[in-house]
Amino acid sequence: MSGKIKSLTLIFFSCFLLYGCSESSSTKIKENKTDPAVRDVFAMDTFMSLKAYGSDAEKAVDDAEKRIYELENELSATLEESDIWKLDNSDGKAVDVCDDTITLIKKAMEIGDKTGGALDITVYPVLREWGFTTGEYKIPEQGRIDELLANVDYRNITVKDNSVALPENAQIDLGALAKGYTGDEIMKIMESHGVTSAIVSLGGNVQSLGSKTDGSPWKVAVRDPFLEDKDMCVVDIINKAVITSGNYERFFYGEDGKKYWHIIDPSDGYPADNGIVSVTVIGDNGLECDALSTAFFVLGYDKTVEYLRSNPQYDVIMVTDDKKIYYTSGIGDSFQNISDMPAEVISVD
Ligand code: AMP
Ligand code: MG
Repeated sequence: MSGKIKSLTLIFFSCFLLYGCSESSSTKIKENKTDPAVRDVFAMDTFMSLKAYGSDAEKAVDDAEKRIYELENELSATLEESDIWKLDNSDGKAVDVCDDTITLIKKAMEIGDKTGGALDITVYPVLREWGFTTGEYKIPEQGRIDELLANVDYRNITVKDNSVALPENAQIDLGALAKGYTGDEIMKIMESHGVTSAIVSLGGNVQSLGSKTDGSPWKVAVRDPFLEDKDMCVVDIINKAVITSGNYERFFYGEDGKKYWHIIDPSDGYPADNGIVSVTVIGDNGLECDALSTAFFVLGYDKTVEYLRSNPQYDVIMVTDDKKIYYTSGIGDSFQNISDMPAEVISVD
């Protein structure tokens, strides 16, 4: 089992166990006429687990699984014939794409604008040069980074109705936000089947529908970025997405002994190193939380707090490279620190 798969498996089990444990089987029998429908899926390079309650929950998870594969086939940068693959091999020509792809590209451009370009889906060729798409890691030559950065600018993407055109040497990938959107789409399917209580974990990103069946909140563990396979805190959520970007997800050590990770700062083509090692965004909309988690990682602490001042609908948990946890007051009551790191409330007013 590769290191990455092993660590993903463990993240997945640690998340699942936490909310699994807090539900005793006697409670389940008393409060649920039916057991949950559960489903494990491997897609988008990620272990996913779905759990839903309700009389039609089995059908809901069936349909959700189909939708996950459909989205993967549309949005993957590496699967030939996906919309993104077609765009990345279009030599500057316009390509007709499906509604999901349009939604994601438009949202990526919007969040790119709102974060001063911290989120830039055209950073893909730089990410590839570092080897993050294949695992053949290397520190690229500065000249090569400069050459590739010349084509990084999401503002040059043209979207008209269902047609998208990239400049000739530009390529994109939606890895920063596709899983959040997938979670939202899963929840829509759950709702259409009358499910009112569900939780999904998409590689450590957790999204919930409603509360647990006894009305209490879901307990979601967030990984400690400094300790392999350990959680650092637990938050209680109802009907929310909890989406994390961390420097432990995909990384390598260079010959210089430094750690390099998969979130690239579009301003210099290097792994974003602005003092944050993990950022979790909690909110109603998984797509936005996912796009923002990646953008905040690039922005660093001060600019993230600035963003939250004008967008107070999100809560965040940030871990800085000097081993401190900061979290917003909106989750104050439900935040439980289970790490050795000090945790402090961020004041956004
Ligand atoms: P996440 O785990 O949601 O933070 O997404 C990380 C993924 O987003 C990476 O694996 C890349 O595919 C992509 N990515 C990395 N840096 C950026 C960036 N600055 N803007 C947009 N996408 C990025
Ligand atoms: Mg993200």
